[in-house]
Amino acid sequence: MRTRALLACATGLVLLVAGCGGGGGGGSSPQPSAVPSPASPPPSAALPPEAAPSPTPTRPPKTPLRALPAKLPAGLVRTTGVEQVALTFDDGPDPAWTPKVLDRLKAAKVKATFCVVGTQVRKHPELVRRIVREGHQLCNHSWNHDLDLARRPVAEIRADLVRTNKEIRRAVPDAEVPFYRQPGGRWTAEVVRVAKQLDMRSLHWTVDPQDWAKPTAATIRKRVKRSARPGAVVLLHDGGGDRSATLAACPKLIAALKRDHGVTKLH
Ligand SMILES: [Zn+2]
Repeated sequence: MRTRALLACATGLVLLVAGCGGGGGGGSSPQPSAVPSPASPPPSAALPPEAAPSPTPTRPPKTPLRALPAKLPAGLVRTTGVEQVALTFDDGPDPAWTPKVLDRLKAAKVKATFCVVGTQVRKHPELVRRIVREGHQLCNHSWNHDLDLARRPVAEIRADLVRTNKEIRRAVPDAEVPFYRQPGGRWTAEVVRVAKQLDMRSLHWTVDPQDWAKPTAATIRKRVKRSARPGAVVLLHDGGGDRSATLAACPKLIAALKRDHGVTKLH
C-alpha cells in the first residue's frame, strides 16, 4: 500500500512538473515587469470604499462609483451661442436669498436660470412659482445635490432626475425644465445621456467666481468681469449657505455685464 501511494505521488509530481514546463514557455520574463505599471490604477482607486468588512451588515453593498472622466464629456452647453451672457443661480430655492436675488434681477430687468435642488423645491414651492412667474428659466440640479450622482448606476441617475422634475412640477404644473446641471460640475457621459433622454440639455458654465467660497462682493465682481467673454455662462449661487456677498455683488455686476455684453435668458 505504502509503495503504491508513494508511486502515485511521484507520478503526480512528474505530471505537474511536465505541465508547468509545457505551459510556461521558454524563459519569458516574469509578469510584473512585462506589464507597464502606469496603465493600472493605484490599488486604492481599484477598491470600493465598502471593501472593509462591516460589523453590522444592515444595508446591501453599494455599486462602486464609476470613475470621473479625465475631461468634461461631450454635449455640455457652455455658451449662450450669442454675444450676450447668461446668469445662472444654483442650489436654491432658499427663503433667505432667492427672493432678494429675484428682486435684483427684476430691478435690472434681466432674466436668469435657476438650478434648483429637489429637496429645496419641496420645502419652498412658492419660490419656484415666483421664479417661473417672473419669467426666469428652470434647471434641474438633482434631488439632494449629490456630487457623485453622475458616477452612480444609470437607473439611480434617472430616478434622481425624474424625482426632481416631479417635485418641480408639483410646484409648477407643466413647468419647463430644459436643463440639467450636475452638482459640482462632476459630469459623466452617462448623466449627460440620461438628461438628454429626459429632454434636458446639460448646462455647464464658463465663468465661476467661486462665490460659494465666500469672497467679498468686490472680488466676485472682479472675477466675473475678468473672465466674462461673449456668450459666457456665469455661475452664481442663491442657496447652499450665506449668499450675502453674491447678493451685494449683483447690482453692479449685472450692470457691468449688461453694458459690456448684454444679458440674455438661456433657452
Ligand atoms: Zn450646486
